[in-house]
Amino acid sequence: MLERLKNDFYLAMLTLVGCIIVLCVTPYGIYRLYSGNYIVGTADLFMVLCAMAATRMAWRSGDTVKPGLFMALVFCAGALLVCINLGVDGLFWVYPFLVFIFFLVAPVRAFALLALMLGSLFVIANLYPQLIFASRFQMLAFFVTTSITSLFAFIFAYRAQLQRRELQRLATTDSLTGAGNRRTLNDQLALAISEFARLSRQYGLILLDLDHFKQINDNYGHKVGDQILIELVPVLQSMLRQSDQVFRFGGEEFVVLVADIKQADLERLAEKLRAGVQRKIILPDGAQITTSIGVAMQKADESWEAWLHRADLALYQAKHQGRNRVVTA
Ligand code: GH3
Ligand code: MG
Ligand code: MG
Repeated sequence: MLERLKNDFYLAMLTLVGCIIVLCVTPYGIYRLYSGNYIVGTADLFMVLCAMAATRMAWRSGDTVKPGLFMALVFCAGALLVCINLGVDGLFWVYPFLVFIFFLVAPVRAFALLALMLGSLFVIANLYPQLIFASRFQMLAFFVTTSITSLFAFIFAYRAQLQRRELQRLATTDSLTGAGNRRTLNDQLALAISEFARLSRQYGLILLDLDHFKQINDNYGHKVGDQILIELVPVLQSMLRQSDQVFRFGGEEFVVLVADIKQADLERLAEKLRAGVQRKIILPDGAQITTSIGVAMQKADESWEAWLHRADLALYQAKHQGRNRVVTA
Protein backbone atom coordinates (compact mmCIF):
# COMPACT_ATOMS: atom_id res chain seq x y z
CA MET A 1 0.00 0.00 0.00
CA LEU A 2 2.79 2.43 0.93
CA GLU A 3 4.63 1.40 -2.25
CA ARG A 4 1.61 2.41 -4.38
CA LEU A 5 1.34 5.76 -2.59
CA LYS A 6 5.05 6.36 -3.15
CA ASN A 7 4.97 5.49 -6.86
CA ASP A 8 1.69 7.09 -7.92
CA PHE A 9 1.62 10.84 -7.27
CA TYR A 10 -2.03 11.37 -8.26
CA LEU A 11 -3.21 8.37 -6.19
CA ALA A 12 -1.36 9.75 -3.16
CA MET A 13 -2.84 13.23 -3.67
CA LEU A 14 -6.35 11.89 -4.25
CA THR A 15 -6.08 9.89 -1.03
CA LEU A 16 -4.74 12.90 0.89
CA VAL A 17 -7.53 15.17 -0.41
CA GLY A 18 -10.10 12.43 0.34
CA CYS A 19 -8.86 12.13 3.95
CA ILE A 20 -8.78 15.92 4.47
CA ILE A 21 -12.31 16.30 3.10
CA VAL A 22 -13.64 13.51 5.33
CA LEU A 23 -11.93 14.95 8.42
CA CYS A 24 -12.64 18.66 7.82
CA VAL A 25 -15.98 18.76 6.01
CA THR A 26 -17.87 16.05 7.92
CA PRO A 27 -18.08 18.09 11.21
CA TYR A 28 -19.22 21.16 9.21
CA GLY A 29 -21.90 19.13 7.40
CA ILE A 30 -23.23 17.74 10.68
CA TYR A 31 -23.16 21.22 12.27
CA ARG A 32 -25.07 22.72 9.30
CA LEU A 33 -27.72 20.00 9.53
CA TYR A 34 -28.06 20.59 13.31
CA SER A 35 -28.39 24.33 12.82
CA GLY A 36 -31.14 23.82 10.24
CA ASN A 37 -29.24 24.67 7.03
CA TYR A 38 -30.23 21.46 5.25
CA ILE A 39 -29.05 22.49 1.77
CA VAL A 40 -25.44 23.22 2.79
CA GLY A 41 -25.37 20.33 5.31
CA THR A 42 -26.53 17.86 2.65
CA ALA A 43 -24.12 19.32 0.07
CA ASP A 44 -21.21 18.98 2.55
CA LEU A 45 -22.02 15.37 3.37
CA PHE A 46 -22.61 14.59 -0.31
CA MET A 47 -19.11 15.93 -1.07
CA VAL A 48 -17.68 13.72 1.72
CA LEU A 49 -19.41 10.66 0.24
CA CYS A 50 -18.18 11.52 -3.26
CA ALA A 51 -14.62 12.00 -1.98
CA MET A 52 -14.75 8.58 -0.28
CA ALA A 53 -16.22 6.90 -3.38
CA ALA A 54 -13.66 8.50 -5.74
CA THR A 55 -10.73 7.51 -3.49
CA ARG A 56 -12.03 3.95 -3.29
CA MET A 57 -12.50 3.83 -7.08
CA ALA A 58 -8.92 5.04 -7.65
CA TRP A 59 -7.48 2.40 -5.30
CA ARG A 60 -9.52 -0.39 -6.87
CA SER A 61 -9.08 0.41 -10.56
CA GLY A 62 -5.61 2.00 -10.48
CA ASP A 63 -7.05 4.77 -12.69
CA THR A 64 -6.77 8.21 -11.08
CA VAL A 65 -7.96 10.35 -14.01
CA LYS A 66 -11.70 9.64 -13.84
CA PRO A 67 -12.01 9.67 -10.01
CA GLY A 68 -9.94 12.89 -9.89
CA LEU A 69 -12.12 14.60 -12.47
CA PHE A 70 -15.27 13.38 -10.72
CA MET A 71 -14.06 14.75 -7.37
CA ALA A 72 -13.05 18.07 -8.97
CA LEU A 73 -16.45 18.48 -10.66
CA VAL A 74 -18.35 17.65 -7.45
CA PHE A 75 -16.22 20.14 -5.48
CA CYS A 76 -16.74 22.85 -8.12
CA ALA A 77 -20.51 22.41 -7.84
CA GLY A 78 -20.26 22.16 -4.02
CA ALA A 79 -18.15 25.34 -3.79
CA LEU A 80 -20.71 27.24 -5.89
CA LEU A 81 -23.60 26.00 -3.76
CA VAL A 82 -21.82 26.84 -0.50
CA CYS A 83 -20.99 30.39 -1.72
CA ILE A 84 -24.56 31.02 -2.86
CA ASN A 85 -26.02 29.65 0.35
CA LEU A 86 -23.64 30.99 2.97
CA GLY A 87 -22.66 34.25 1.27
CA VAL A 88 -19.45 35.78 2.60
CA ASP A 89 -18.90 32.90 5.12
CA GLY A 90 -18.78 30.42 2.24
CA LEU A 91 -16.19 32.39 0.25
CA PHE A 92 -13.32 31.34 2.55
CA TRP A 93 -13.78 27.73 1.44
CA VAL A 94 -12.99 28.68 -2.13
CA TYR A 95 -9.32 29.47 -1.36
CA PRO A 96 -8.11 25.99 -0.29
CA PHE A 97 -10.12 24.57 -3.18
CA LEU A 98 -8.24 26.80 -5.66
CA VAL A 99 -5.06 25.04 -4.60
CA PHE A 100 -6.07 21.44 -4.03
CA ILE A 101 -7.95 21.04 -7.33
CA PHE A 102 -4.45 20.97 -8.87
CA PHE A 103 -3.78 17.77 -6.93
CA LEU A 104 -6.87 16.11 -8.42
CA VAL A 105 -6.59 16.77 -12.14
CA ALA A 106 -3.91 17.84 -14.65
CA PRO A 107 -2.99 21.56 -14.45
CA VAL A 108 -4.66 22.81 -17.67
CA ARG A 109 -7.87 20.96 -16.86
CA ALA A 110 -7.86 22.24 -13.26
CA PHE A 111 -7.36 25.81 -14.45
CA ALA A 112 -10.21 25.49 -16.96
CA LEU A 113 -12.54 24.11 -14.25
CA LEU A 114 -11.62 26.97 -11.90
CA ALA A 115 -12.27 29.54 -14.66
CA LEU A 116 -15.67 27.94 -15.25
CA MET A 117 -16.52 27.88 -11.54
CA LEU A 118 -15.38 31.46 -10.83
CA GLY A 119 -17.03 32.64 -14.08
CA SER A 120 -20.36 31.11 -13.04
CA LEU A 121 -20.05 32.69 -9.59
CA PHE A 122 -19.34 36.06 -11.22
CA VAL A 123 -22.44 35.82 -13.42
CA ILE A 124 -24.65 34.80 -10.47
CA ALA A 125 -23.20 37.58 -8.27
CA ASN A 126 -24.02 40.15 -10.97
CA LEU A 127 -27.51 38.81 -11.60
CA TYR A 128 -28.34 38.84 -7.85
CA PRO A 129 -26.20 41.65 -6.37
CA GLN A 130 -27.01 41.12 -2.66
CA LEU A 131 -27.00 37.31 -2.70
CA ILE A 132 -23.31 36.60 -2.03
CA PHE A 133 -21.28 39.81 -1.57
CA ALA A 134 -21.89 42.66 0.87
CA SER A 135 -20.60 45.26 -1.60
CA ARG A 136 -19.26 45.73 -5.14
CA PHE A 137 -15.86 46.45 -3.67
CA GLN A 138 -15.88 43.13 -1.80
CA MET A 139 -16.89 41.29 -4.99
CA LEU A 140 -14.07 42.92 -6.94
CA ALA A 141 -11.54 42.02 -4.22
CA PHE A 142 -12.77 38.41 -4.19
CA PHE A 143 -12.46 37.91 -7.96
CA VAL A 144 -9.09 39.63 -8.19
CA THR A 145 -7.60 37.59 -5.30
CA THR A 146 -9.07 34.26 -6.48
CA SER A 147 -7.79 34.91 -10.04
CA ILE A 148 -4.28 35.69 -8.76
CA THR A 149 -4.28 32.60 -6.50
CA SER A 150 -5.53 30.36 -9.36
CA LEU A 151 -2.88 31.70 -11.73
CA PHE A 152 -0.01 31.13 -9.29
CA ALA A 153 -1.31 27.68 -8.32
CA PHE A 154 -1.50 26.83 -12.05
CA ILE A 155 2.07 27.99 -12.73
CA PHE A 156 3.32 26.01 -9.73
CA ALA A 157 1.43 22.84 -10.73
CA TYR A 158 2.44 23.15 -14.38
CA ARG A 159 6.13 23.47 -13.48
CA ALA A 160 5.87 20.52 -11.11
CA GLN A 161 4.24 18.44 -13.85
CA LEU A 162 7.04 19.24 -16.32
CA GLN A 163 9.68 18.39 -13.74
CA ARG A 164 7.92 15.14 -12.78
CA ARG A 165 7.79 14.11 -16.47
CA GLU A 166 11.45 14.95 -16.96
CA LEU A 167 12.41 12.94 -13.86
CA GLN A 168 10.31 10.04 -15.12
CA ARG A 169 12.08 10.22 -18.50
CA LEU A 170 15.51 10.32 -16.87
CA ALA A 171 14.70 7.38 -14.62
CA THR A 172 13.30 5.15 -17.38
CA THR A 173 15.40 5.81 -20.49
CA ASP A 174 19.02 5.40 -21.52
CA SER A 175 20.63 8.83 -21.78
CA LEU A 176 22.69 8.11 -24.94
CA THR A 177 20.14 6.39 -27.17
CA GLY A 178 16.73 7.27 -25.68
CA ALA A 179 15.81 3.56 -25.61
CA GLY A 180 14.25 2.13 -22.42
CA ASN A 181 16.86 1.39 -19.76
CA ARG A 182 17.57 -1.83 -17.89
CA ARG A 183 15.21 -0.93 -15.07
CA THR A 184 12.29 -0.34 -17.46
CA LEU A 185 13.15 -3.58 -19.25
CA ASN A 186 12.88 -5.51 -15.98
CA ASP A 187 9.50 -3.88 -15.22
CA GLN A 188 8.15 -4.58 -18.71
CA LEU A 189 9.36 -8.20 -18.65
CA ALA A 190 7.62 -8.71 -15.31
CA LEU A 191 4.46 -7.13 -16.81
CA ALA A 192 4.70 -9.44 -19.83
CA ILE A 193 4.89 -12.45 -17.48
CA SER A 194 1.77 -11.35 -15.61
CA GLU A 195 -0.11 -10.62 -18.89
CA PHE A 196 0.77 -14.06 -20.23
CA ALA A 197 -0.61 -15.67 -17.07
CA ARG A 198 -3.74 -13.47 -17.03
CA LEU A 199 -4.62 -12.93 -20.70
CA SER A 200 -2.65 -15.68 -22.46
CA ARG A 201 -0.94 -12.90 -24.42
CA GLN A 202 2.38 -14.36 -25.56
CA TYR A 203 5.44 -12.14 -25.91
CA GLY A 204 8.67 -12.68 -27.79
CA LEU A 205 12.15 -11.44 -26.93
CA ILE A 206 14.85 -10.41 -29.40
CA LEU A 207 18.34 -9.86 -28.00
CA LEU A 208 20.73 -8.07 -30.37
CA ASP A 209 24.46 -7.55 -30.04
CA LEU A 210 26.48 -5.61 -32.61
CA ASP A 211 29.38 -7.62 -34.00
CA HIS A 212 32.98 -6.59 -33.35
CA PHE A 213 31.92 -3.29 -31.87
CA LYS A 214 35.19 -2.95 -30.00
CA GLN A 215 36.96 -2.90 -33.35
CA ILE A 216 34.59 -0.21 -34.62
CA ASN A 217 35.53 1.94 -31.66
CA ASP A 218 39.21 1.20 -32.24
CA ASN A 219 39.08 1.89 -35.98
CA TYR A 220 36.75 4.88 -36.18
CA GLY A 221 36.85 6.33 -32.67
CA HIS A 222 34.47 6.23 -29.71
CA LYS A 223 32.41 9.12 -31.09
CA VAL A 224 31.51 7.19 -34.23
CA GLY A 225 30.70 4.20 -32.00
CA ASP A 226 28.32 6.37 -30.00
CA GLN A 227 26.73 7.69 -33.19
CA ILE A 228 26.08 4.12 -34.40
CA LEU A 229 24.32 3.30 -31.12
CA ILE A 230 22.21 6.48 -31.39
CA GLU A 231 21.26 5.67 -35.00
CA LEU A 232 20.46 2.05 -34.20
CA VAL A 233 17.36 2.75 -32.07
CA PRO A 234 15.30 4.65 -34.72
CA VAL A 235 16.46 2.15 -37.35
CA LEU A 236 15.07 -0.70 -35.22
CA GLN A 237 11.89 1.24 -34.41
CA SER A 238 11.26 1.91 -38.12
CA MET A 239 10.92 -1.86 -38.61
CA LEU A 240 8.76 -2.48 -35.52
CA ARG A 241 5.13 -1.93 -34.55
CA GLN A 242 4.13 0.90 -32.19
CA SER A 243 3.49 -1.62 -29.40
CA ASP A 244 6.98 -3.19 -29.63
CA GLN A 245 9.53 -1.80 -27.21
CA VAL A 246 13.29 -1.28 -27.55
CA PHE A 247 15.62 -1.28 -24.53
CA ARG A 248 19.36 -0.85 -24.15
CA PHE A 249 20.48 -3.92 -22.25
CA GLY A 250 24.00 -2.56 -21.81
CA GLY A 251 26.97 -1.50 -24.01
CA GLU A 252 26.06 -2.44 -27.59
CA GLU A 253 23.37 -4.96 -26.63
CA PHE A 254 19.69 -4.16 -27.17
CA VAL A 255 16.45 -5.98 -26.35
CA VAL A 256 13.22 -5.81 -28.35
CA LEU A 257 10.09 -6.93 -26.52
CA VAL A 258 7.34 -7.91 -28.94
CA ALA A 259 3.75 -8.35 -27.80
CA ASP A 260 1.26 -10.83 -29.22
CA ILE A 261 3.46 -12.78 -31.59
CA LYS A 262 3.99 -16.37 -32.76
CA GLN A 263 7.37 -18.06 -32.90
CA ALA A 264 7.62 -18.08 -36.74
CA ASP A 265 6.74 -14.35 -36.93
CA LEU A 266 9.25 -13.54 -34.20
CA GLU A 267 12.02 -15.28 -36.13
CA ARG A 268 10.99 -13.48 -39.34
CA LEU A 269 11.03 -10.15 -37.50
CA ALA A 270 14.49 -10.84 -36.01
CA GLU A 271 15.81 -11.68 -39.48
CA LYS A 272 14.30 -8.45 -40.82
CA LEU A 273 16.04 -6.47 -38.05
CA ARG A 274 19.37 -8.17 -38.74
CA ALA A 275 19.19 -7.45 -42.48
CA GLY A 276 17.81 -3.92 -41.87
CA VAL A 277 20.68 -2.92 -39.57
CA GLN A 278 23.22 -4.26 -42.06
CA ARG A 279 21.59 -2.33 -44.91
CA LYS A 280 20.75 0.93 -43.18
CA ILE A 281 23.69 1.62 -40.85
CA ILE A 282 26.78 2.55 -42.78
CA LEU A 283 30.23 3.27 -41.31
CA PRO A 284 32.16 6.41 -42.41
CA ASP A 285 34.15 4.48 -45.03
CA GLY A 286 31.00 2.82 -46.42
CA ALA A 287 31.51 -0.48 -44.57
CA GLN A 288 28.49 -2.32 -43.13
CA ILE A 289 27.84 -3.31 -39.54
CA THR A 290 26.46 -6.73 -38.63
CA THR A 291 24.41 -8.00 -35.72
CA SER A 292 24.04 -11.31 -33.93
CA ILE A 293 20.59 -12.05 -32.54
CA GLY A 294 19.12 -14.49 -30.02
CA VAL A 295 15.33 -14.88 -29.90
CA ALA A 296 13.17 -16.57 -27.28
CA MET A 297 9.41 -16.98 -27.05
CA GLN A 298 7.82 -16.69 -23.63
CA LYS A 299 7.05 -20.03 -21.94
CA ALA A 300 4.30 -20.73 -19.42
CA ASP A 301 5.41 -20.74 -15.77
CA GLU A 302 8.82 -19.28 -16.56
CA SER A 303 10.37 -16.35 -14.72
CA TRP A 304 11.47 -13.35 -16.79
CA GLU A 305 15.04 -13.95 -15.68
CA ALA A 306 14.97 -17.49 -17.10
CA TRP A 307 13.34 -16.24 -20.32
CA LEU A 308 16.00 -13.56 -20.79
CA HIS A 309 18.70 -16.10 -20.01
CA ARG A 310 17.44 -18.37 -22.83
CA ALA A 311 17.62 -15.44 -25.27
CA ASP A 312 21.15 -14.71 -24.01
CA LEU A 313 22.22 -18.34 -24.59
CA ALA A 314 20.79 -18.19 -28.12
CA LEU A 315 22.76 -14.97 -28.75
CA TYR A 316 25.91 -16.66 -27.46
CA GLN A 317 25.33 -19.48 -29.96
CA ALA A 318 24.85 -16.96 -32.79
CA LYS A 319 28.23 -15.45 -31.93
CA HIS A 320 29.77 -18.90 -31.63
CA GLN A 321 28.43 -19.98 -35.03
CA GLY A 322 30.18 -17.09 -36.76
CA ARG A 323 28.05 -13.96 -36.02
CA ASN A 324 25.66 -12.02 -38.33
CA ARG A 325 22.80 -14.50 -37.80
CA VAL A 326 19.63 -15.24 -35.83
CA VAL A 327 19.45 -18.20 -33.44
CA THR A 328 16.26 -19.29 -31.67
CA ALA A 329 16.35 -20.55 -28.09
P1 GH3 B 1 31.28 -9.41 -30.38
O1 GH3 B 1 31.12 -9.56 -31.85
O2 GH3 B 1 31.75 -10.66 -29.73
O3 GH3 B 1 30.06 -8.88 -29.76
O4 GH3 B 1 32.46 -8.37 -30.19
P2 GH3 B 1 32.35 -6.96 -29.54
O5 GH3 B 1 33.64 -6.25 -29.75
O6 GH3 B 1 31.15 -6.23 -30.00
O7 GH3 B 1 32.04 -7.35 -28.04
P3 GH3 B 1 32.53 -6.88 -26.64
O8 GH3 B 1 31.41 -7.14 -25.68
O9 GH3 B 1 33.86 -7.50 -26.34
O10 GH3 B 1 32.73 -5.31 -26.74
C1 GH3 B 1 31.67 -4.42 -26.71
C2 GH3 B 1 32.28 -3.07 -26.89
O11 GH3 B 1 31.28 -2.08 -26.90
C3 GH3 B 1 33.22 -2.69 -25.77
C4 GH3 B 1 32.97 -1.24 -25.51
O12 GH3 B 1 34.09 -0.46 -25.78
C5 GH3 B 1 31.88 -0.88 -26.49
N1 GH3 B 1 30.88 -0.04 -25.88
C6 GH3 B 1 30.06 -0.31 -24.85
N2 GH3 B 1 29.28 0.74 -24.55
C7 GH3 B 1 29.61 1.73 -25.43
C8 GH3 B 1 29.17 3.07 -25.62
O13 GH3 B 1 28.28 3.59 -24.94
N3 GH3 B 1 29.75 3.78 -26.64
C9 GH3 B 1 30.73 3.24 -27.42
N4 GH3 B 1 31.24 3.99 -28.39
N5 GH3 B 1 31.17 1.99 -27.23
C10 GH3 B 1 30.63 1.24 -26.28
MG1 MG C 1 29.23 -7.03 -29.62
MG1 MG D 1 28.36 -7.20 -26.14
